[in-house]
Amino acid sequence: NNYEYIVSACLCGENCRYDGKSTLSEKIKRLVDEGKAIMVCPEVDGGLPIPRHPCEIRNSKVVNNNNEDKTEEFVSGAKKVLELAKKHNIKKAILKEKSPSCGSSFIYDGTFSRKLIKGQGITTELLRKNGIEVISDEEFNK
Ligand code: SF4
Repeated sequence: NNYEYIVSACLCGENCRYDGKSTLSEKIKRLVDEGKAIMVCPEVDGGLPIPRHPCEIRNSKVVNNNNEDKTEEFVSGAKKVLELAKKHNIKKAILKEKSPSCGSSFIYDGTFSRKLIKGQGITTELLRKNGIEVISDEEFNK
């Protein structure tokens, strides 16, 4: 198959978010239905359960709201997404804004008080370092 995009699975109606829900974008799901995109959920790929404690990035580590370090899982999930992108020679990703994995312009500030700061998620950072263009669902849906 000739995939053009990696996309966040939660944007396609998969209930893989920390709260067991999805954030469906019909337009992004269509890319998957048409065979143009592959879905990933780096947090689940990294071994985290559904549902799970919400995580935020703090001082370059990923912690959950129980103060447990989940950096390893996030990095492992990000690596799996990168491997998949390389395997299929995919150069673009559309990922869920504000997520500590998938965010591309904004993330939460690490205090679990719903405060946003400029930043990117762990998977987005790794993909960009490897030359893959990452845009958010918000940009794509515009
Ligand atoms: Fe969606 Fe990404 Fe969070 Fe998975 S890690 S639920 S794909 S935003």
